[in-house]
Amino acid sequence: MLRLKLKAHRLKDPILRKIRSGLRSILLLEYKKKELELRKRLSFATDDQKEIEILKQRHDLSMSLHRSPINCFFYGNHMGDLVQDPDSLFWYCPHHIP
Ligand SMILES: [Zn+2]
Repeated sequence: MLRLKLKAHRLKDPILRKIRSGLRSILLLEYKKKELELRKRLSFATDDQKEIEILKQRHDLSMSLHRSPINCFFYGNHMGDLVQDPDSLFWYCPHHIP
């Protein structure tokens, strides 16, 4: 299969890198807060329909994280430049792209 050569979104300016890193950290904290809230709701779910609804919300939350340039899907490092896999739409460090 022919693979396109993927190009990382490179930021050279250290100030912009720092701003990007700060924004990623804020978004990751928000993701973790929402994920914890959903896990708590799941532990108190009273019926199968409610559990399925919460599991779908967790799946959607996870997809929105991994399909945004916040962190590497493979390793979780969110400080460097990332590349988006055109098949999965997940983001990776350039050396972790499948
Ligand atoms: Zn990586």
